[in-house]
Amino acid sequence: MTWTIVVGVKQVPDADEVGIDPDTGRLDRASAPAVLNPPDRDALEAALSIRDEVGGEVFAITMGPPNATSVLEEAVAVGCDDAYLISDRAFAGSDTWPTSLTLARAAEELEADVVVCGEETTDSSTGQVPPGVAAHEGWAQLTYVEDLEPVPEENCLVATRDVEGGHERVAADLPVVVAVAYGEFEPRPAGLHRKIYAENDFEPTTWSAEDLGIEDEVGLDVSPTSVGGMETVQPVERRGEVVDAVEDLLEPLTEVDA
Ligand SMILES: Cc1cc2nc3c(=O)[nH]c(=O)nc-3n(C[C@H](O)[C@H](O)[C@H](O)COP(=O)(O)OP(=O)(O)OC[C@H]3O[C@@H](n4cnc5c(N)ncnc54)[C@H](O)[C@@H]3O)c2cc1C
Repeated sequence: MTWTIVVGVKQVPDADEVGIDPDTGRLDRASAPAVLNPPDRDALEAALSIRDEVGGEVFAITMGPPNATSVLEEAVAVGCDDAYLISDRAFAGSDTWPTSLTLARAAEELEADVVVCGEETTDSSTGQVPPGVAAHEGWAQLTYVEDLEPVPEENCLVATRDVEGGHERVAADLPVVVAVAYGEFEPRPAGLHRKIYAENDFEPTTWSAEDLGIEDEVGLDVSPTSVGGMETVQPVERRGEVVDAVEDLLEPLTEVDA
């Protein structure tokens, strides 16, 4: 049996160029071009490598505004079979709870065997979405994954996980949600023909909240968290000093600047 692999990709502001609005203290998303969340390149590679071994299809999904189509084009260019844009004004103000519910319902609709996500995003960086998807569906989850071995004959996925001070091998029955460790899956380049197709002919299927039957379960009102405020801090200037002997360390370490 082949597997259906769904990969979550998110559009984020380019971290090298994004600024903070000095008046509101919030991320000024308009100040930077939107790009594919870098850890999601690893997620795409992990998803495609599972398909290489087991066969099946890889579908990219994103919950975002209509211009998030560009990250789906990138996903199709590197080899995803199809991609879905989940977009609706009803999603405005959603925190990680309704976001993971939305992605979970989309994965269910696609009859996913495996959902692959990045470790975290570079704009909100909570890392809560992949475990949230698993929780909403009651599926197994594998986080901080460095390597994957599909075992189709047993309908399970074996992962090597990065745990403090070592590595752990865990097997999970399908369906399973995987969050891959950033930098562990070297992304493959997009093929030329696929790139031309993605840029010129590809159109994502678009789903609304109503299409997924969750119109009353998303948005600001049902988001349990709220951002109380945001402060920017200046980087601390660090002092360095070379001492001749270990016992000379104590004084500079305990010295308090006036
Ligand atoms: C307290 C709080 C309040 C917030 N309030 C708002 C708000 O009012 N308005 C607002 O617009 N946003 C808000 N957000 C941001 C919003 O919740 C997040 O952008 C979203 O839930 C995804 O969380 P994350 O970026 O931390 O994802 P992570 O959990 O860090 O992402 C891990 C992985 O999950 C997948 N993933 C995550 N998000 C998506 C997605 N959208 N589509 C596809 N795959 C995805 C990717 O593979 C990603 O690498 C808030 C966040 C927090 C923490």
